[in-house]
Amino acid sequence: MSKEDYEVVIGLETHAELSTKTKIFCSCPTEFGGEPNTHCCPICMAMPGTLPVLNERVVEYAVKAGLATNCEISRNSKNDRKNYFYPDLPKAYQISQFDKPLCEKGYVEIEDENGEKKKIRLTRIHIEEDAGKLNHDEYGRESLVDLNRAGVPLIEIVSEPDIRSADEAEKYLRKIKSILEYIEVSDCKMQEGSLRADVNVSVRKKGETKYGTRTEMKNMNSFRSIVRGIEYEVDRQIEVLENGGKIEQETLRWDDVSGRTFSMRDKEDAQDYRYFPDPDLVAIKLSNEYIENIKNNLPELPESRRKRYLDEYKLTEKEANLLTASKYTSNLFEEATKICNNPKAVSNWIMSDIAKILNEKEMEAEQIPFTAENLAELIQLIDKGTISNAIGKKVLVELFENPKAPSKIIEEKGWVQISDEGAIKEIVLKIIEANPQSVADYKAGKDKAIGFLVGQAMKETKGKANPQILNKLFMEELKK
Ligand code: ADP
Ligand code: MG
Ligand code: ZN
Repeated sequence: MSKEDYEVVIGLETHAELSTKTKIFCSCPTEFGGEPNTHCCPICMAMPGTLPVLNERVVEYAVKAGLATNCEISRNSKNDRKNYFYPDLPKAYQISQFDKPLCEKGYVEIEDENGEKKKIRLTRIHIEEDAGKLNHDEYGRESLVDLNRAGVPLIEIVSEPDIRSADEAEKYLRKIKSILEYIEVSDCKMQEGSLRADVNVSVRKKGETKYGTRTEMKNMNSFRSIVRGIEYEVDRQIEVLENGGKIEQETLRWDDVSGRTFSMRDKEDAQDYRYFPDPDLVAIKLSNEYIENIKNNLPELPESRRKRYLDEYKLTEKEANLLTASKYTSNLFEEATKICNNPKAVSNWIMSDIAKILNEKEMEAEQIPFTAENLAELIQLIDKGTISNAIGKKVLVELFENPKAPSKIIEEKGWVQISDEGAIKEIVLKIIEANPQSVADYKAGKDKAIGFLVGQAMKETKGKANPQILNKLFMEELKK
């Protein structure tokens, strides 16, 4: 048997930190970073005798996420204690939700490899608290605990095992990220751990109806490692099975450097969390009006923006799809267009040159270091003829390196386009004199020769000559 005889089955448990101002059970700030143990209080440090109070915003944000992913919202939900010991969890239990999650039975849509719409079902979305963080010293001798993150609110979005490839897993997570960004419940900064996923992978022979045994890669926080991790696990599992072995259900850690997975713990010590309702918290009862009100106030979702881009800006389907896939690119597009009034150009820059650089640098759209004003000004400078398109591309590279106003960049670099006919004519004459063969070729009917001459002139001016004027002057001179 070969790889083609197997089907891949994947389910994701996605954690998103909510962007509420304060933590889930106390009024400490949720802000990322800060000196260790400065964003905490007796409640999130689990001092004896303290009592949690549920932050209403957390419920609101989770309901928003549920509504935006087609979930049923529970009218009657509760918090449970999930008991386990780990040094970053000072209470020795995590407050989570067990049998009555806030949201259930939703779905999101992705496009499969044939471009067909495919639904990935969501089992549930529940709320819980994040744990603290252990900082290990480089010799592995000491670990210090930082509780700034303890009690930061999370939603966990659990998918059904409906995903069938690494590519679908990436699309699914990008969709989740995009939705959470649009409804403004999480900043989804993967590099800060605001969005991370446990990736469950199994394989089975094609045609088999029962799922294979899965392994789970914990806390994956980049699209690239998720794709690499899945590909690695699929190959590993198939090889084990092909050699007559069995897959152990285990928790794995993906290591980006070595490009392989390591076992963290196996089923032997599978945890019994002894869930029970948290006696310190009341049930979460939601009225229909409450849910309706959130539904009616949901921000504009990608689908509606997409339609608007077709009508309002006359973009193509493809452009509208790509631009609205991320709220950040979509906002960049709208803000820049408002200033420079050239939607087509903004769209082109975002989809080609900016996308290319993001890809090369392995950056996400939200890490773009320059502003919409910068992009708009760049386009205006080209539209006005102050710089050529070629110089524009160089300005963009600068914007990524050292963002500031494009007009400043071209001034500092001396990149302003030469549009003075007298100055260009001097260069044209010089190039003609230096290249008699090309001139003769052109006169003998080889039209292409002019391209070479223009190229030489561009080189001479370091790309700064206005191309229209340059072409016009060459034509005039060569006709003589
Ligand atoms: P746990 O919470 O113990 O990890 P769950 O039953 O809640 O277990 O499943 C967690 C995730 O694993 C879900 O996203 C689910 O879709 C996925 N999953 C379950 N069975 C499989 C399987 N055989 N192969 C791949 N993914 C699976
Ligand atoms: Mg799990
Ligand atoms: Zn606190």
